[in-house]
Amino acid sequence: MSGTGRDGLYIDGEFRAARSGRVGSVEEKATGREIGRFALGEAPDVDDAVAAARSAQPAWAALSAPERASYLRGFAAQLDARHGELVEQSMRETGGVRAKAEDEVGTSIRQLHISAVQASEPAGDVLPPYKAGKLSLSRTVPLGVIGLITPWNYPMNLAMRAVAPGLAFGNTIVLKPAELTPVIGGQVLARAAHAAGLPPGVFNVVTGDGPGAGRPLAEHAGIDMLDFTGARAVGESVAAAAAGRDVRLELGGSNAFVVLDDADVELAASCAMIASLEFQGQTCISASRHIVLRDVAEAYLDAVTRKAESLVVGNPFDDVDLGPLISIAQRDRVHEQIVAPSLAKGARLVTGGTFEGLFYRPTVLADVTPDMPAFSEEIFGPVIPITVVDTEAEAIALTNGYPMLMNSVFSADLVRGMGVAEQLDAGEVHVNDAHARHGAENQLAGFTRRQWIGVQRTPLQLPEWASR
Ligand code: NAD
Repeated sequence: MSGTGRDGLYIDGEFRAARSGRVGSVEEKATGREIGRFALGEAPDVDDAVAAARSAQPAWAALSAPERASYLRGFAAQLDARHGELVEQSMRETGGVRAKAEDEVGTSIRQLHISAVQASEPAGDVLPPYKAGKLSLSRTVPLGVIGLITPWNYPMNLAMRAVAPGLAFGNTIVLKPAELTPVIGGQVLARAAHAAGLPPGVFNVVTGDGPGAGRPLAEHAGIDMLDFTGARAVGESVAAAAAGRDVRLELGGSNAFVVLDDADVELAASCAMIASLEFQGQTCISASRHIVLRDVAEAYLDAVTRKAESLVVGNPFDDVDLGPLISIAQRDRVHEQIVAPSLAKGARLVTGGTFEGLFYRPTVLADVTPDMPAFSEEIFGPVIPITVVDTEAEAIALTNGYPMLMNSVFSADLVRGMGVAEQLDAGEVHVNDAHARHGAENQLAGFTRRQWIGVQRTPLQLPEWASR
């Protein structure tokens, strides 16, 4: 198959090649082996997909909630039927270990079931009447056509977190998955939606690269909302391209991991493995900066180093803890733009800092200061940079002031930990835990707008000037 048939674009219920006929290669990250092809869609293909989504949207929104919910359950059943195959596809395409891939596929299926229920939940409120005799209602209505651009790190569930609620509320979708993961992030979803019998045009997939397919989708006048997950700089530029439409951006940041002087150091170091090293550190909520109070700094450094050195790096199909980085470009970014310049500025390499191909050793850097990229930049690699401070106030001041998604604080005193957590700027802070266990259950349901409805309940009394 080379970009046609079931491996092509999915537009208006049909699988087809890109209009240009161009294809790209899908690679297994651990081996570099070609495992498939994908169509390199471009602006004319995006036009076709948006037109299909536009024309399908009114009829899709007009279906009853139980009908849409039934399609979503059918979509879930199709994914569930191929669960094992999808897990292995994710392992090959993203380079994640089996547990990561299981989580990704399982979360995606659960998201569809949750959204099937969301579709039937009350969709409005009765508001206080602003005048006697009036009935004021509000209801949620679909936005219309959603353009969805997704990254490679959790390609299936980061797509599904928008696809499922988006469809549930009566929107139609054009998905542009990342070019490094076009199968698990796009093609398999198209096949499942098709097999579940979703009406043509309701869900469309245009594979391709960012400038070729993503940009025309973001700029397209036919979308009502752009939902983008990816790098901060790219997100800011696509948001400008989508100006005038609803835009939701999920970007990256430099998350902090704060260890106070009364922390359980072993617990903190174990959580650090998850926070900074799980999936090779390539998660938007990965901890970048470890800010540690001096009293426990040496014990923490020892524990983190011991644990990092025990990790086995290799092909996810072998019994390993960490797999490969996603690409040579990503490896070079981690090594040449984060680790090397931080060492040049005086950071101390405690362990790691070496690689073979895409396999990067878990790395611990000590003596890290705020002027180093290991401190200020999103790393997206298996690196633990440690910065030592003397006081809790210093730890708080040093944490704030950077783009952050999620932080952690460690303290044996829960009240103290929560007090520090409250002073950190991130959208989410955890006390004595590495990460939120982000499930489909705590995704926010969006993709609708509020519509206010006023009803005159009693005979209308208009002012004299209006009824002359
Ligand atoms: P990326 O921004 O390079 O790519 C994301 C998507 O945008 C891809 O589909 C890509 O093809 C597309 N794209 C690239 N250039 C484009 C352009 N000019 N116009 C339109 N689309 C374009 O990001 P990535 O490397 O795939 O993912 C890693 C980044 O994503 C990290 O910064 C990470 O923090 C972030 N991320 C955030 C979340 C979150 O929920 N906040 C989740 C996962 C990843």
